[in-house]
Amino acid sequence: MKTLRGLLGIDTQREQYAYADDAHAGYVSVQRLADRWVKTTCGYCSVGCGMSLGIRGDKAVAARGNPDHPVNSGKLCPKGLAEHHAISAPGRATHPMLRRNGHSSRVSWETAIETMMAEFRRIQERYGKDAIGVIGTGQLVTEEFYTLGKLVQLGFRSRAQYPPLGETWAGALRITTSTVQNAGSAFHAPARLR
Ligand code: SF4
Repeated sequence: MKTLRGLLGIDTQREQYAYADDAHAGYVSVQRLADRWVKTTCGYCSVGCGMSLGIRGDKAVAARGNPDHPVNSGKLCPKGLAEHHAISAPGRATHPMLRRNGHSSRVSWETAIETMMAEFRRIQERYGKDAIGVIGTGQLVTEEFYTLGKLVQLGFRSRAQYPPLGETWAGALRITTSTVQNAGSAFHAPARLR
C-alpha cells in the first residue's frame, strides 16, 4: 500500500537507499550493512579469490575482496562482488531430488548417495569402469580439481575425466589440470597465475 509520501510523490525510499557506517567495510549502502564478516573463497571460478562475506542475521548481504589473500590482494571481479546474491537466489538446488517413473521428488541425502552408488556399480559392472565419466567445471578451485581427480581415478577407477566444455575455460583449465595431476602430494598454483 502506498504511503502518504508516495501518494504525494515525494517518497525517495530513503530507508532502502540510505548509507551506514560498517566497522569492517566503512561507508556502505544500508542494504549491505553486516553484523559480522566471514572469510571464505569465491566459488565462481577456478582462480579462487579470497573474499569476506558480510552476514546480517542468517543471510549474506555483501561481498568484499580479502586484502590479505595472495591470489587477488583484495580485488574481486563483478561475479565475486555479487556472490552474496547467488547464495540466496531463487531456484537454487538445496536438496537432492530423485526421478522415479518420470516424476522427481525430494529424498534424503542418504537415499541419494545410496541410489547413486548402486547405479554407478550397476553401470560399471555391465559396461566397464570407464562407463562412468566426469566433466570438470571452471567453478572448481585447484584443491577441488585435485580431489575430483583422485575420486575419478582411485574411487571410480575410471580414466574418463574431461575438462569443462566451454572453450573460454578449456585451454586455461587444461594447464591447471595437468599442473595438479603432476603435482603429486603438493598443491601448485595454476600456471596461468604465475
Ligand atoms: S576471478 Fe571473479 S569469479 Fe573468479 S574467483 Fe575471482 S572473484 Fe570469483
